[in-house]
Amino acid sequence: MRQINNPPNPYLKYSPEFLGEPPKAKLEIYEEFTTKKIITKAWSLQMGERFTVNCYRGCIHGCTYCFARQYHEYLGYGAGTDFETKIVVKPNAPFLLREELKKLKHNIHHLDFSFATDPYLPLEASYQLTRRCLEVCRDYQMPVGIITKSPLVTRDIDIIKRLKKVTVFFSIPFLTNEKSKPFEPYVPIPEVRFRAMKTLADAGIEVGIGIAPVFLGYNDAEIPVLLEKARENGATNAFMGMVHFDTDSIENYFVQKLNEKLPTKADKILNHIRRERDGNLRHRNYDERGKGKTQEWEIARQMFDLHYKKLGFETSEKHPEIIETKTLPVQQTLF
Ligand code: SF4
Repeated sequence: MRQINNPPNPYLKYSPEFLGEPPKAKLEIYEEFTTKKIITKAWSLQMGERFTVNCYRGCIHGCTYCFARQYHEYLGYGAGTDFETKIVVKPNAPFLLREELKKLKHNIHHLDFSFATDPYLPLEASYQLTRRCLEVCRDYQMPVGIITKSPLVTRDIDIIKRLKKVTVFFSIPFLTNEKSKPFEPYVPIPEVRFRAMKTLADAGIEVGIGIAPVFLGYNDAEIPVLLEKARENGATNAFMGMVHFDTDSIENYFVQKLNEKLPTKADKILNHIRRERDGNLRHRNYDERGKGKTQEWEIARQMFDLHYKKLGFETSEKHPEIIETKTLPVQQTLF
């Protein structure tokens, strides 16, 4: 069982400190009925306006690099174990989505399910909120993008097939369970994600792979095989991206977990990130957020591009770093 381990919340005047061992972190579910809006507007230089839907806040998958951890701080929780164990559920999300689309459908041309959480975190198996929101999108003929790490998405093939346009991206940055576990402790193993990808592709649904984050010296050499496996399992799109820490608390949590889980590799991984960031772990500006700048990063990028083309992935508007950078404005509209 995990113990409570949260970096101090910058929005709170006081943060708890424990004398001795911190208590155990246990799963707590909060149903939030006061939400007034479910569509969040995002904006990016490259793609203009984007709209996202998140039926949950927090994520049991617990990826140590997850940029969505900071959104939990807006709710007064911690970005560490609180993000993984205090999950906010919005039971009225499908109702709100239908009401909003009734009014806004002509102004919204695409909805993304992701960014503040995984739309298929384990609670979705019983709440079925993502499923019911997808039904609303089907009724309104609304094009949809989904990013997930969970095979639970295969449950909804019947709905997804009937969407006007949809791409389901599976986030699979590591080839093996051994490589994934230190960073993605509670996520279904990579093989299971690939299997789910194939199930969707076999049903005629457009699928892709997200290889992000890429840690130079750790998983960059796996890029060609990840792309190959994705292609074998029906993917037609792919993107890659670099880790980014938007707040001190996310950076601190990541560094702490890295030192705990991979003590012999931590320095090497962190030094690679620092080389891409002029000696820091944090990017300086929005433009740098999802990519590196050294020759080593460029080699990884070229390797991605080479195999992307060689394997016959689609040339499309879903350029890797556009997908990475488009997430930044989302956080600004979550309040
Ligand atoms: S699955 Fe996605 S939202 Fe959930 S912790 Fe991992 S990166 Fe964050």
